[in-house]
Amino acid sequence: MTGSNEALAKLARRVAEEAYAPYSHFRVGAVAVGPDGETFTGANVENAAYPVSSCAEATAINYAVSQGLRKIDTVAVACIDAEDVEGAYSCGRCRQIMAEFDVETVIVTAGDGSEVREHTLDELLPHRFDL
Ligand SMILES: [Zn+2]
Repeated sequence: MTGSNEALAKLARRVAEEAYAPYSHFRVGAVAVGPDGETFTGANVENAAYPVSSCAEATAINYAVSQGLRKIDTVAVACIDAEDVEGAYSCGRCRQIMAEFDVETVIVTAGDGSEVREHTLDELLPHRFDL
């Protein structure tokens, strides 16, 4: 665990406070980090039509890409309402979204607890779809 990861986890936790999660009550924040250290944040945004909802990771990555970013070094994710205080891992859809832009992306995962985990995308999505 690096100090940088802790700082990203702290920012992701803060962003999670802004999540719109009236159905799941599962607030998540994410930070996508570009090669120059630029950060793009996003929270989960739910919808009464559940499949229309957006995960925090997707929100952050879509924001980053819409600002011109095409390489994402790190995605930090923090769930502040997970039953496990150490957080939860990104869903398969978000892992595939990460793979679209950079298969070298490092994923930092945190919850309310003190542990901040780090994984490579290869570890979390080893047989991803690619054209
Ligand atoms: Zn997701």
